[in-house]
Amino acid sequence: MRRAARPDRMASADDDGARDIDAGAVVADLLTWYDKSARLLPWRSPPGIAADPYHVWLSEIMLQQTTVKAVIPYYAKFLDRWPTVTALAAADIEAVMAAWAGLGYYSRARNLHACAKAVAEAHQGHFPADEATLLALPGIGSYTAAAIAAIAFDARATAVDGNIERVVARLFAVEEALPAAKPRIKALAARLTPHPRAGDYTQAMMDLGASICSPRSPSCLVCPVRRHCAAHARGIAETLPVKAKKGEKPHRFGAAFLAMRADGAVLLRRRPPKGLLGGMLEVPSTVWGPSMPDRGAALADAPFPAKWHPLAGIVRHTFTHFDLDLAVYRADGLPIGGQPPGGVWYPRASLAAEAIPSVMRKVLSHGLGQELGEE
Ligand code: SF4
Repeated sequence: MRRAARPDRMASADDDGARDIDAGAVVADLLTWYDKSARLLPWRSPPGIAADPYHVWLSEIMLQQTTVKAVIPYYAKFLDRWPTVTALAAADIEAVMAAWAGLGYYSRARNLHACAKAVAEAHQGHFPADEATLLALPGIGSYTAAAIAAIAFDARATAVDGNIERVVARLFAVEEALPAAKPRIKALAARLTPHPRAGDYTQAMMDLGASICSPRSPSCLVCPVRRHCAAHARGIAETLPVKAKKGEKPHRFGAAFLAMRADGAVLLRRRPPKGLLGGMLEVPSTVWGPSMPDRGAALADAPFPAKWHPLAGIVRHTFTHFDLDLAVYRADGLPIGGQPPGGVWYPRASLAAEAIPSVMRKVLSHGLGQELGEE
């Protein structure tokens, strides 16, 4: 039988005016709604039942910076190919990277594999149940450690992602701006977290943030916790959470070199293991600096001397922390036989199946005049 969920105690007024809230009543209303309306997601167990830690971990790593819709086919592919963490640990890293291609933020894939190995070797193939031990594993940050502990082991751990942060800020009418308000929102979320059913509470908050308490226009009229919500009562829900103004995103520029061999093969090279797109394949390029290199400066960084001609247009790509414009130079009909230092020739037909990051796929599509698409 399902046990009743109990938050620690009643959450109370905060120093800067965040409102009183009856945590027990909030959680009761939230879980009643979740029992009826939980989203059906392939990595989830039904309400009241702890989920498989491998499924929770895999989905949480994939969902970082990525939408549920985009993750579902990748999750199915990984589970089909590597049904257990031990199977994933035994996989070749290149196969994992190739299966990940298109999901972006590739350091997650390397950490995923490293974490699987650590669980297989140091924990006999079983994910640890406590937050602190989870946190010590590669690629697992504080949010993910808390989410796994709560959802897979029903530990009283408080996970706060963007959705939960927004819901908590509104429930308590926290008007302090992010990111300074983060510790306080986490503390308020901890007051709400019940035990048992910490996992269901966490997923209910995720669902509420994703489906009802949306960033721009929350659907307060159908919200299961509306009667408790301080922001709704004050008519300020849409204005919360307050975010500190950001500076403009930096813009970087560079040139990429598309070397085409006489048989149609394309030269790619592997980026250094650390840093942005670490260890991924790339079309050789200049450093990405604050202004577009002129032809002379660009060609000084070409992988080898050749008849490089500039292509019309630029390739634009948006990373989390900066925008990038790349000019593309192309050299055709290069002789078969040589292997430029650091580079490998890839047959054109094989490119679609390689683990190539999105920005470089754009460069290839631009230079080859064909859509490579994502894996
Ligand atoms: Fe969000 Fe509105 Fe519900 Fe408050 S009442 S938690 S603002 S949807």
